[in-house]
Amino acid sequence: MPALVGHRKHLPRRAVRVPRVVVRLRVPRIDFRARDWLRQRPVPIATPWGPGIRLAVLRPWFRVGSGARVFMELSAGALRRFAPGAIAGPVPALRELAQAVLDGAAPLGPLEFGVLAFTGPSQAPLTAADRELFWRAFEAPVFEQYRDAHGELLAYECEAHEGLHLVRESVIAQLRGYAFLEDTCPCGAVTARAAPALARAAAG
Ligand SMILES: [Zn+2]
Repeated sequence: MPALVGHRKHLPRRAVRVPRVVVRLRVPRIDFRARDWLRQRPVPIATPWGPGIRLAVLRPWFRVGSGARVFMELSAGALRRFAPGAIAGPVPALRELAQAVLDGAAPLGPLEFGVLAFTGPSQAPLTAADRELFWRAFEAPVFEQYRDAHGELLAYECEAHEGLHLVRESVIAQLRGYAFLEDTCPCGAVTARAAPALARAAAG
């Protein structure tokens, strides 16, 4: 279905009227102590792209560089005005935003760069249906990032989209249900990689 990709890009930027709709996103609840801890020690966000891209972050606890902005409560108008080139957030928040885009409640153009989807030990994994939904809504590739309960990056997906690269081999212990991949990634990086063992068994 790549037919959609081309034509929306060339709409004049101000031609779309933004309805005054507030899209409320469920950000997984964090308790006060966690919030406090994270405020003292914000986690740097890592992206597959260069610095300075317009990145909308749907999660409060990242230290973001120039060009990026953290949305605590997301309104369709604010997001449209920010005109992000990429969006980062936990999978449930991305699902909600994607559905709003498809329903016409959040008029967001195709993303120039892509989607960073945060997963972790306490969350449901990113499914093939999620990737399909995000592709239809954002028309951009999805990069999974597996983070621990404090937002610290443990593993990330590269442009090859073949499993997750581990930041250290030992973090495999923190990736629930993941198993090592033996082959070398087509991206050329030789770091250890892992993929969900159960999902692969179910698919095969
Ligand atoms: Zn790779």
